[in-house]
Amino acid sequence: MALRVGVIGGGQLARMMIAPAVELGLDLRVLAESEGMSAQLAATAVGDYRDLETVRAFVKDVDVVTFDHEHVPQHILRALVADGVAVHPGPDALQFAQDKLVMRARLAELGVPQPDWAAVHDVAELQAFLDEHDGKGVVKTPRGGYDGKGVRVVRSADEAQDWFDALEPGDALLVEELVAFVRELAQQVARRPGGDLVAYPVVETVQRDGVCAEVIAPAPAASERLVEVAESIGRTIAEGVGVTGMLAVELFETDDERILVNELAMRPHNSGHWSQDGAVTGQFEQHLRAVADLPLGATTPRAPWSVMINILGGPSEGTLGERFPAAMAEHPTAKIHTYGKSPRPGRKVGHVNASGDELDDVVYVARAAAAYFE
Ligand code: ADP
Repeated sequence: MALRVGVIGGGQLARMMIAPAVELGLDLRVLAESEGMSAQLAATAVGDYRDLETVRAFVKDVDVVTFDHEHVPQHILRALVADGVAVHPGPDALQFAQDKLVMRARLAELGVPQPDWAAVHDVAELQAFLDEHDGKGVVKTPRGGYDGKGVRVVRSADEAQDWFDALEPGDALLVEELVAFVRELAQQVARRPGGDLVAYPVVETVQRDGVCAEVIAPAPAASERLVEVAESIGRTIAEGVGVTGMLAVELFETDDERILVNELAMRPHNSGHWSQDGAVTGQFEQHLRAVADLPLGATTPRAPWSVMINILGGPSEGTLGERFPAAMAEHPTAKIHTYGKSPRPGRKVGHVNASGDELDDVVYVARAAAAYFE
């Protein structure tokens, strides 16, 4: 019988596991939040991932559980592990992708370079941190943030008053120094339960309004040292917290060539979509191999350059599908991926990958093809 992999969450990341699962001969099953989600083709159940009995019923028929997102509560993950279910990544690792304060504390223990940070319980504590950091900082809600939501640059502690007001007693916000980075990078690694690990080349990511817009793989003009440091950070974290599956480490590069960790994702990640078409083993296949405890695939790029452009929002009129033929006809080397979502301003509804020998040409093709979907 085929190994049954259960994915909790029915978004585009689960959707993009479907094709590689078919090819690997895995039986992919998805617990989707609602009908009509991106991964509906593989959705075998619809239900609330915050409800233990719903999740228990779903995992009864699978051999290993993995995720499309990091929001499944710890008490549910731990109940599954206690039931004897194989959960990858497990709760001990996943907690560091669920809570940015827990992550900062662990990265400090691991000696991984990161921005100055503090847990602040009230306006006075926040102001004290700002006073020590040129009067500015980045305040973050430790849990539940994504795509820049839950991240606020402040120059006075009062600007975070509403977030303090919303905290449960005893809880804290995270504050970080405002890093003057020259660019953002991402390092991905995949790790099997037994410890085998492979690393992808470090990539450059471009964010607009807190949302990933473009990725260039590998990161242009990356020195040998930068490549090595990024990879060793990825390895240190994956091993240090016991990640299984894909790990993405978001990084800041500073003008003095320091690399600081921004945050972690323990699943396929937007910064790795290029690998679907640009690497020997795409991140979705790799994640499945890792969580199913199969030998990992080569991460070697298929071309000197790959570029990924997100399709954000989608067309203001009509559907994505209507734009397909024209984009395909004009840019036959572009690989277009859609998520089956209806257009909405700012929403990630698809992406375009392109690869080739000349970075300028590859960027042009990917951007031009993506522009058909605006
Ligand atoms: P999310 O969880 O919403 O992705 P992040 O913590 O990754 O939030 O922050 C979103 C973006 O905000 C980052 O990609 C970066 O551009 C900016 N940012 C976050 N933290 C800092 C920081 N300490 N200094 C400067 N910019 C930051």
